[in-house]
Amino acid sequence: MQSTTTAPVAIVRCADYELSAVETAVRRTIDLLGGMSTFVQPGQRVLLKVNLLRPAAPESACTTHPAVVAAVAKLVAEVGGRALIADSSGGPYQAGLLRTYYRKCGYTWAAEVSGAELNEDVSSVQVAHPEGIVLRRLDVITPLTQADVVINLPKLKTHNLTGLSLAVKNLFGVIPGMVKTGYHGKLQPQERFFEGLLDIYTYVRPALNLMDAVVGMEGNGPSGGDPRPVGALLASTDGLALDVVCADLVGYDPLAVYTTATAVKHGLTSGRLEDVPLLGDELAPLRVPDYRKGMAASVDPGLLPKGLRGAVRVQEEEGGQHRGLVHRALYDWLGKQFVVVPSAGPNCTGCGVCARHCPVEAITIVNKHAYMDLDKCIRCYCCHELCPQLAVELKMPWLGRLLTRK
Ligand code: SF4
Ligand code: SF4
Repeated sequence: MQSTTTAPVAIVRCADYELSAVETAVRRTIDLLGGMSTFVQPGQRVLLKVNLLRPAAPESACTTHPAVVAAVAKLVAEVGGRALIADSSGGPYQAGLLRTYYRKCGYTWAAEVSGAELNEDVSSVQVAHPEGIVLRRLDVITPLTQADVVINLPKLKTHNLTGLSLAVKNLFGVIPGMVKTGYHGKLQPQERFFEGLLDIYTYVRPALNLMDAVVGMEGNGPSGGDPRPVGALLASTDGLALDVVCADLVGYDPLAVYTTATAVKHGLTSGRLEDVPLLGDELAPLRVPDYRKGMAASVDPGLLPKGLRGAVRVQEEEGGQHRGLVHRALYDWLGKQFVVVPSAGPNCTGCGVCARHCPVEAITIVNKHAYMDLDKCIRCYCCHELCPQLAVELKMPWLGRLLTRK
């Protein structure tokens, strides 16, 4: 049975990243939910789970903006908590790399101005999660297990696999480094991966989720898209409710975010905006209806000629049973024509980062160029997400392009 989302989402306008303006807006957002003292007690260790996808400048809108991180950390200190900034970025999880990422993403500065610590412990532990749907044991970064409180600080971005990267998706970063690649590989078909993301969310259960949507990323996210001002901070104790509101904010049907659609199937949320109480500033004037969507991993079956819709559904569900006249293999082939595939473009330097992170070893480097074996490829898009040159292009196969005009 589906539960109705009841936790409120606070929305506060915030035009830019000028520190004092961000501090005012962050304080107001959290005050709408009862204030930081509701979530943090004196002496508690508070893990701030930022989005540290890659060493990108704050203005690229790839990572949680350091002004937001600093403002939250200052509030944590104000109520006597000890903030620790942490994330396991894409790629290897090493202290030296983390220091570089912190510097480039502005977190070294955020730590200096707020008194927060930067995590350099790159160890991990295995934890039990008996209520998990597909993950009953999880590998997580050690500081997560040592924290008294987790505050989730996602960045609003398009995402080629999940539709949007929001509060639930942001927590994938508590899985250490290359272990993430293994999760992509073992959680197949893709719906199991979305269930795994929900398991990570229900294990971590952040006390508070605060979305940096002052400037989001549109288009080719989560790493190669373009900054797009949205002008808002949003927060909730319920990450699923926050994801529903954030999707609506940028013109997405909340169920077009696959983590939310999967959560609806498991009765974790209704996925309906009307079930979420809203606090603070009006949502409607902040909506960005022309937010440029990413290249969705698969097309909306409703866009296809009727006879082909089943093919896409079979491909999306894979485990689903098709009992029609057309043989399953043909349906599988047809379905794949509507799922985007990766290929390395002219900017590829042959560095091999994508090959090292491909969970099914589908990438080979020949003459300093990456080649993807699409028969092996499971369409996880890690190569697209992690390529330092942003050289991996995603394209719909020709039949899909022809029939959907995408
Ligand atoms: S596609 Fe990107 S990550 Fe892969 S080899 Fe080329 S430059 Fe490196
Ligand atoms: S080739 Fe890219 S999209 Fe395909 S499985 Fe490997 S990393 Fe994932």
